[in-house]
Amino acid sequence: MDVKTFAVIGSGQMGNGIAQVAATSGLQVIMNDIQQDFVNKGLQNITNILSRNVDKGKMTSDEKDAVLGRIATSVSLEDMAEADFVVEAATENESIKFKIFRDLDSICKPGTILSSNTSSIPIGRIAAQTKRPDKVIGMHFMNPVPVMKLVEVIRGLATSDETFRTTWDLSLRFGKTPAESSDFPGFIANRILMPMINEAVYCLYHGVGTREDIDTVMRLGMNHPMGPLALADLIGLDTCLAIMETLYNGFCDSKYRPCPLLRKYVEAGWLGRKTWRGFYEYQ
Ligand code: NAD
Repeated sequence: MDVKTFAVIGSGQMGNGIAQVAATSGLQVIMNDIQQDFVNKGLQNITNILSRNVDKGKMTSDEKDAVLGRIATSVSLEDMAEADFVVEAATENESIKFKIFRDLDSICKPGTILSSNTSSIPIGRIAAQTKRPDKVIGMHFMNPVPVMKLVEVIRGLATSDETFRTTWDLSLRFGKTPAESSDFPGFIANRILMPMINEAVYCLYHGVGTREDIDTVMRLGMNHPMGPLALADLIGLDTCLAIMETLYNGFCDSKYRPCPLLRKYVEAGWLGRKTWRGFYEYQ
């Protein structure tokens, strides 16, 4: 399938990163959110990153302007009527995503592929909200999107081969390396990563170590580029909790029980870098 117009729902840290890589690859992009100031913030983030790339000599100022010129903003899902391929990157919340997919299904052209960047929610559950489950797929980018090479591609039970191929080829066009995962809660990436992060939070909760010692052990001892608590702050503690809840409910297995300290931080609004406070404090 020939994709010309690409749309992203949600302009948060993942959505604006996805819009940036799509526009850099030459696609026309529509970036959507529920409020104009959220979209503006996403666009400002893209502009800052591209400006830094110009300063470092990685791209010219004309190239930066061309990329930005390919990104239109939107606060109405009706604008998705033009899109050939949509990536939903809204908050990790099942009812929010279900509603978006129901609305997209009625607004988009019959041939439009509807993908989700969900970290954990099974694609089959999302696809069941639509009358086009063959055109629904998981396209799971990593954070930060412009830097990280992986895209996890997840087919639901009904996803067609054409939808899979188009998504796989788009990942390659974006300069990414796709890997396929079956449709289970958390897929591959977060089935492995998130219990490790949750266990690090339990270590803090039980006083096994300070935040610095826990992160130092995993960075220097296991050669991880970031400690798990710093990584949780980067991902967003609300997103981490939502993923643990999807694993816990999806497998009905107590080994995925979210740490009470994680829940407490989220309830306090300490969501990590995006609120300037999580396990660490940020300027
Ligand atoms: P975020 O909180 O930075 O951004 C979410 C955005 O979605 C917000 O701007 C919010 O206003 C918007 N939104 C909420 N409801 C919406 C609606 N109905 N229509 C349009 N926009 C809406 O979150 P994020 O970190 O960008 O995560 C987005 C998605 O990507 C989640 O599903 C998350 O699990 C997934 N993801 C996150 C990471 C990560 O490291 N943070 C990595 C991979 C995948």
